[in-house]
Amino acid sequence: MNIELRRFFESDDVRQDFDYEFPAEDDLFSSPVHVSGFVKNATGIVSLSAKAEFAVSTQCAKCAKNITKSMTVPVKHFLIAHLNDENNDEYILVENMVLNLDELVMEDIYLSFPTRFLCKEDCKGLCPLCGQDLNEGECGCRKPVDPRLAALQALLRDDE
Ligand SMILES: [Zn+2]
Ligand SMILES: [Zn+2]
Repeated sequence: MNIELRRFFESDDVRQDFDYEFPAEDDLFSSPVHVSGFVKNATGIVSLSAKAEFAVSTQCAKCAKNITKSMTVPVKHFLIAHLNDENNDEYILVENMVLNLDELVMEDIYLSFPTRFLCKEDCKGLCPLCGQDLNEGECGCRKPVDPRLAALQALLRDDE
């Protein structure tokens, strides 16, 4: 969705609400992206305040289980028509007075993604030796000792 911004920059007390969805062109998404919020000019400051709701379907990075996650990402920015000294990530420079909201929403969504998706915060993953899903129980394989840890333990013993 494109939002024509000229009227927001030209007068105070303008507000436009929106509530719509668009398809994300990425296989990771298992639902359209639902965007709701508003753009307003309040005492000369034009701001965008919205949230994006969608679902992603992927595999847990540790145990490879299929997971579907519902996510909500806030999309909040100040909009400016001209570059100024306060220019930073919170400020979006709008070219030609038109805001491409879908594009901005997708940027915020990708920035909010974790470096990897897990089925749960403390997923134990798979045993590297036998492939057993350790969330379902220990497999009984002997864990190889991390050589760095072994060196540290040896050092500590020397101190005693
Ligand atoms: Zn997992
Ligand atoms: Zn094992």
